[in-house]
Amino acid sequence: MRTQRQVVDYSLQKRAVLRELLAGRVGTYDVCDASPYLKNAARFHGEPTDRRCPICRSENLTLVHYIYGDELKQSAGQARTLAELPVLAMTLREFQVFVVEVCLGCDWNHLVEQYLLGRDGLPGDGDGAGGSEQDAAGAGNVGRRRREAQR
Ligand SMILES: [Zn+2]
Repeated sequence: MRTQRQVVDYSLQKRAVLRELLAGRVGTYDVCDASPYLKNAARFHGEPTDRRCPICRSENLTLVHYIYGDELKQSAGQARTLAELPVLAMTLREFQVFVVEVCLGCDWNHLVEQYLLGRDGLPGDGDGAGGSEQDAAGAGNVGRRRREAQR
């Protein structure tokens, strides 16, 4: 996504958990503890993947995108489909996205990454999509300034 920034990748932490599990230092009960809310979010707003669950290896993982931020008001903390994110990113200045992978078979779940989305991440000041009126006005100013400079 164009406005994606400040990405934090949690794959190292995930690998550490899987290592602990393999070594028997944590049990599957400790890591396969998806709440009913998370599983519902995965069913209704989740993004299916073709990656197998690292624990049960019988189901594919589902990605759930949770959104947080002051501008979201009562929607903060809700799950959104991946398709809804670009629309929000064009309407809001900034919000945080947390991506969680879930297995609906064995309840494995882990934070995958987090990042910021929103118009604040667009390059430059209004030189991208949106605010075309402002762009035109800006270009006009530059033109006027150039003409004034030539006098
Ligand atoms: Zn699983």
